Amino acid sequence: MKLDRPDDRGRFGDYGGRFAPETLMPALDELERAFEKAWSDPAFVQRYHDLLTSYVGRPTPQHIAGRLSEQLGVTVILKREDLAHTGAHKINNAMGQGLLVGEMGKRRLIAETGAGQHGVATATAAAYFGLECAIYMGEKDIERQRLNVYRMRLLGAEVIPVTSGAGTLKDATNEAMREWVRSVEYTHYTIGSVVGPHPFPWIVREFQKVIGEESIVQLGGTLPDVVVACVGGGSNAAGMFYPYLDLGIDLVGVEAGGLGIETGKHGASIGAGSPGVLHGSRTYMLQDADGQVIEAHSVSAGLDYPGVGPEHSYFADQGMARYESVTDAEALDAVDLLARTEGIIPAIESAHAIAWVARERASLAGKTVLVNLSGRGDKDVEQIAQIRGLL
Ligand SMILES: *Cc1c(COP(=O)(O)O)cnc(C)c1O
Repeated sequence: MKLDRPDDRGRFGDYGGRFAPETLMPALDELERAFEKAWSDPAFVQRYHDLLTSYVGRPTPQHIAGRLSEQLGVTVILKREDLAHTGAHKINNAMGQGLLVGEMGKRRLIAETGAGQHGVATATAAAYFGLECAIYMGEKDIERQRLNVYRMRLLGAEVIPVTSGAGTLKDATNEAMREWVRSVEYTHYTIGSVVGPHPFPWIVREFQKVIGEESIVQLGGTLPDVVVACVGGGSNAAGMFYPYLDLGIDLVGVEAGGLGIETGKHGASIGAGSPGVLHGSRTYMLQDADGQVIEAHSVSAGLDYPGVGPEHSYFADQGMARYESVTDAEALDAVDLLARTEGIIPAIESAHAIAWVARERASLAGKTVLVNLSGRGDKDVEQIAQIRGLL
């Protein structure tokens, strides 16, 4: 059964909680109180929705992908988060947290970023609200997502390269958390997915559930058979799934299969992981027999994360949603497929959802499948061109 919010200990069933240093506890309490107050205040909720309309460009369109549907023999409906300001769903959450920071009187935002979309969204919110901004990004991600690095700097943010570990999202998250401990009096940590210690997974889901809410209204009374979204930390999936839970719809989260689950080089935290504690909450994660985090691998920087939001762990255990994976190669093929049938270049993250539909088309024949197209592929064009030898 779907939970309005986590319990008193910040848990969704066995998952979530607040595994954080003592120095952060007051800030997490403060954030929880500020969010509770703001989210139950109709004036704040109105300001948030007004911002989404006037600035983010919501509602984002939703339409039947005609040529793709014909080719696959499946009716595919696309929710176009790629058309939101800055090119992905991340902006819904960044603007919500930016608005919340105004209520808490802090002057600086910090964030971690993988693909750079959350960094760009946070830098955008910081510029909009007149806040200072520092973004932590792994070295390897800086390399494969250069365009987003330029965008963040153009927006006035400082981009801080993280060289520890594999130089990807997990390491950037560790570093951002450390910086938050150092500067918590005047800094808000804008977590970019439904991960981290309570109350973050709850706050981010609440700011993203507008995706599913809009989608239901746009469908005008009919319901899809299947709803699909890619899963990195799980925020676009949580936002899309949440209003569709408990309606008997098949909800499918698609994780990064990387080079194949059997190779060990993937990001399938639910599909091939086990419960442990990562970045402040108990959840499915990739770990070895000693509980050491295993590096994730995905061609897509936004899915290259060895954990997942705790609420997804709860959904998975309860059978409320299921979690599948597709490989790097399948996702790249899906970029081409969507580009050539629909004239839409998706983010490689989002292409994972399309790839699952394409692979499963026989079992989905005749059904209506709603896909959350979490972001656009502009940021990935250079990387794809390199892989495809188009440069
Ligand atoms: C960041 C990102 C993702 C992965 O993050 P979630 O929290 O799982 O949504 C997926 N798609 C795009 C376009 C992204 O930028």
